Amino acid sequence: MTAMAITGIGELVTNDPALGNAVLGLVPSAAFVVEDGRIVWVGPAARAPDTDQRLDVGGRAVIPGFVDSHAHLVFAGDRSAEFDARMTGQRYTAGGIRTTVAATRAAADDVLAANLTRLVAEAHSQGTTTIESKSGYGLTVGDEKRCLEIGAMHADETTYLGAHVVPEEYVHKPDAYVDLVCTEMLDACAGSARWIDVFCERGAFDEAASRRILQAGIARGLGARIHANQLGPGPGVQIAVELGAASADHCTHLSGTDVDALAGSSTIATLLPGAEFSTRSPYPDARRLLDAGAIVALATDCNPGTSYTTSMPFCIALAVREMRMSPSEALWAATAGGARALRRLDVGRLSPGARADFAILDAPSYVHLAYRPGVPLVQQTWKDGRRVWPSDA
Ligand SMILES: [Zn+2]
Repeated sequence: MTAMAITGIGELVTNDPALGNAVLGLVPSAAFVVEDGRIVWVGPAARAPDTDQRLDVGGRAVIPGFVDSHAHLVFAGDRSAEFDARMTGQRYTAGGIRTTVAATRAAADDVLAANLTRLVAEAHSQGTTTIESKSGYGLTVGDEKRCLEIGAMHADETTYLGAHVVPEEYVHKPDAYVDLVCTEMLDACAGSARWIDVFCERGAFDEAASRRILQAGIARGLGARIHANQLGPGPGVQIAVELGAASADHCTHLSGTDVDALAGSSTIATLLPGAEFSTRSPYPDARRLLDAGAIVALATDCNPGTSYTTSMPFCIALAVREMRMSPSEALWAATAGGARALRRLDVGRLSPGARADFAILDAPSYVHLAYRPGVPLVQQTWKDGRRVWPSDA
């Protein structure tokens, strides 16, 4: 087996406190060795073992690849006109999703796959190496099934989100739609998804429906995650903790009880500041969650309506500037935090046994991700020990 040393690293973020300084496990003047797609050795460059191949990164910083644990990448169409209207003073309501549903249903499989692979490549170019993608723009048995099958081919993790919004044709019989989501649609989708999700929100699914939908998925062996407390206070976070969900996502409007529940559980609070940015809404209070002891992840929520970005560095910059997270807390949340939100132990860290998923930054320190907002600092992205950006193609 060919081993490769990545050396000349000015600052290595391992996310393993046993390997280096502080929670990020920082190692200065570092190297690591990759074999068969995995990290097999990490330490000071001066002590690196001999290997057949070497890549000297010239003093740049190297970080674990970003783990984007919340995205909606299987869709067709564009909602720039809606964004334009909203930025001109209109308020967002959940119904905008139906615009994308109509476009997605009308799109052929190859159109959906091409859009998805374009977005995954865009994410790679910004340092993301693990990305989750949800269904939720089909909302018929056949369309949800094909969206998940396409998602499973190109995304790392897939989530069944038949309960994204009640589709037009069920507006006058929403209970019948919940029945469908929990039975025939679940049967069709469970094989292509690891997770089940529900948009628990006024205008989408209420407490009883959300609980029923997640329980149906759990009974089929899917892990639970939930869109919770995004547009206003609600029961989403409590349901997440009660059902042992891996993650409660958005967490923008939390009560003290919600914060305490998250802090006392293994449910990750996944914050999605791209959504607040794109809807000109107040940001979630990351500081309050962290100070209470909750575990925080950052993700893009990439979707065509309310957060059309694949950029984890952009989310880090927002978290630092607008949500009072420190640069180290934001980087951890975008890597190790995302891995926890997906219950993955093999990503989000650069220590022996982990996947060789990493980004080389055109900067001496990870701090530049927030210090130099909007600047494309990712020089190379590697996944499973193979360079995925720039691609050779
Ligand atoms: Zn979402």
